[in-house]
Amino acid sequence: RVFQGASKTRERLGVVDELIGLWTLENAEDTLEELEEVLIAADFGPRTALKIVDTIRDGLRQGRVKSQDDIRAALRTAILKVLNSPEQPSTLSLGSSRPGVILVVGVNGGGKTTTIGKLAHKLQGEGAKVLLAAGDTYRAAAAEQLQGWAERSGSQLIARADQQQKPASLLAAALDAAKRGNTDVLICDTSGRLHTNYELMEELGSCKEALSKRMADAPHEVLLVLDGTTGLNMLNQAREFHDMVKITGLVLTKLDGTARGGAVVSVVDELRVPCKFVGVGETVADLQAFNAEAFVDALLP
Ligand code: GDP
Repeated sequence: RVFQGASKTRERLGVVDELIGLWTLENAEDTLEELEEVLIAADFGPRTALKIVDTIRDGLRQGRVKSQDDIRAALRTAILKVLNSPEQPSTLSLGSSRPGVILVVGVNGGGKTTTIGKLAHKLQGEGAKVLLAAGDTYRAAAAEQLQGWAERSGSQLIARADQQQKPASLLAAALDAAKRGNTDVLICDTSGRLHTNYELMEELGSCKEALSKRMADAPHEVLLVLDGTTGLNMLNQAREFHDMVKITGLVLTKLDGTARGGAVVSVVDELRVPCKFVGVGETVADLQAFNAEAFVDALLP
């Protein structure tokens, strides 16, 4: 099931191989233009598709790309270059003091709660003591759902004390509890929907601020969970979240059932934020560290 989503995208990219198979030095430019179209159709987005094709074009001009195999290699290298371009580490980076604090954001239905559960399971499995904070106080079932994940992963959970408590105040209390309880990692859930996007972004901003007021370098990670089935639609959403809370890593979910995984290349390119994890199913074990090389190998025909 590894990168099944990427392989589904590969079916869409199958035509790339046909295209490259027809390539000659004489029709090089036409082939590159068609390649650009194919990449756009596979959710890479116009800007990123152009950038990738331009890299190959440069190789042709400079005489480094001379054969069909060279084009295949250049395409792979160009996509990898985009995925590896962000400066932040591509793995979870939680600072040196304890607790490490992760703020998890994303719209409802994208897989935020499930991702938190999987992440808690993974970290607990590595020997870390994990505390979950049920910061999505607007969705009635959110705390209950998170409670289930806490039990399955052996993590602790902190939910709000009363109906009046605001998410920012709950997260601050959770961070205090994490410090007192020798917690290694605090994972904070947040709302995915409010009356308006403006209100949502304001609230996420105050959640982040409440954490950094209590611990200067917190949150160490701000993970944006993106629904992998939404294709390039995830890009505008990602921009909005990034503008408000400065994302440090992406999690692409539902990659097991979609042919739209190519969009992550575009989001990484536009935000310059690394993809850190991918979700490939609904159970605790279905979270994988993102590996750019394996992803591209699964993607390309
Ligand atoms: P939230 O509203 O963002 O917290 O989303 P949830 O975590 O409740 O997930 C919404 C739905 O997507 C649930 O039915 C999850 O089981 C499902 N889901 C989440 N991640 C994945 C994934 O990686 N693969 C698949 N197939 N389903 C997922």
